[in-house]
Amino acid sequence: MFAAIVPAAGKGTRMGPISVPSKQLLPLGGIPVIVHTLRALDVPEIDAVVLVVPHDLVDTFQMLTKKYNCGKVKWVIPGGNSRQESVRLGLKILPPEYAYVLIHDGGRPLVSKETVRACIRSTYETGAAAVGVPVKDTIKSSLDGRCVKETLPRELLWQIQTPQAFARKPLEEWHEAAAEQGLTVTDDAALAEANGYPVRLVRGEYSNLKLTTPEDLVLAEALLHHGLGGEAVAQSPVDRNRAHIPAFRTGIGYDVHQLGPGRKLVLGGVEVPYELGLIGHSDADVALHALMDALLGAAGLGDIGRHFPDTDPRYQGVSSLKLLDNVMELLSNGGYRVVNIDITIVAQRPKLAPYIDAMRETTASVCRVDVANVNYKATTTEGLGFVGEGRAIAAYAACLLHGYNW
Ligand code: MG
Repeated sequence: MFAAIVPAAGKGTRMGPISVPSKQLLPLGGIPVIVHTLRALDVPEIDAVVLVVPHDLVDTFQMLTKKYNCGKVKWVIPGGNSRQESVRLGLKILPPEYAYVLIHDGGRPLVSKETVRACIRSTYETGAAAVGVPVKDTIKSSLDGRCVKETLPRELLWQIQTPQAFARKPLEEWHEAAAEQGLTVTDDAALAEANGYPVRLVRGEYSNLKLTTPEDLVLAEALLHHGLGGEAVAQSPVDRNRAHIPAFRTGIGYDVHQLGPGRKLVLGGVEVPYELGLIGHSDADVALHALMDALLGAAGLGDIGRHFPDTDPRYQGVSSLKLLDNVMELLSNGGYRVVNIDITIVAQRPKLAPYIDAMRETTASVCRVDVANVNYKATTTEGLGFVGEGRAIAAYAACLLHGYNW
């Protein structure tokens, strides 16, 4: 049986600042990059797929494989520190009945099913095959990055891509040996070469780009649009439009806590000197509680009671900044980032004006936004009601999130 391993654990740092936690989640033609990749691997010869992803995104990728019916994905596992390590971990999880393994980069979404199948056929013949294309440019070498050493004979040069496929047993042995010896390679065929094993070249397509830098994404989008790469993805005009319309979502939150003696007063993550403090299970930071409800609400993730129940001893006395950080992790995993935040604290006393800037800075840093996008206001109720009587402090929060229509 044939399995595919898809290393997708790199965060894509060369892609520049992106608003999703991994480049495999960037939208391409309206759907995440990784979904294109997995659809291309959905060929009759492949029985199961191991998807290797960043350790904090296992749930997100699992959700996506379900949502987009990538039924051949049997395992979504956390990757290692390098691509090589991720492939090794993928091999380890595969049951013995998978005698052949195809490896394909998660960041090559435009590979065609034909190329995948051609690679598989060659592997049955030789035990190792790698897809590539003849080099178009003239390639020169340099030892110091300043002067040319020589021009390499172009007719001998191939630009190697993935997929690459192998008989599983030797590949696994080479990986284990390389890990033991600390040998680093940039693709799996290099391990075969290092072990004197012949690798069959399979002619692929120039459109099988590896999405590495921002211009690759523009090229991929254009190739896909013109039908020059990738599998035809059935898309309604609405879907196609959606790709270019980011999802904006708003949320609101409200909270009240009672004031009492013997407690610190913490508002917006900042300790405010006062003879009373807010009573609650955590530090009772009413402003951040309202904010968390706004953020969770905007993302459609319920409320803080659901994520941090006040019956859970883990949250006893915990700083609400820690909880806010957890909320931000949830948002980021869902592909959301904060556009702006606006908070109103309703308190008769003490005067909050001197602490507003510190609250903005503290909140902005946890919410991973510029301080200009976080606003705090304070108001009294002119002595009216429980807040006016100084028995409680209330807070309202509103936020805007930016995300993608996964
Ligand atoms: Mg609360």
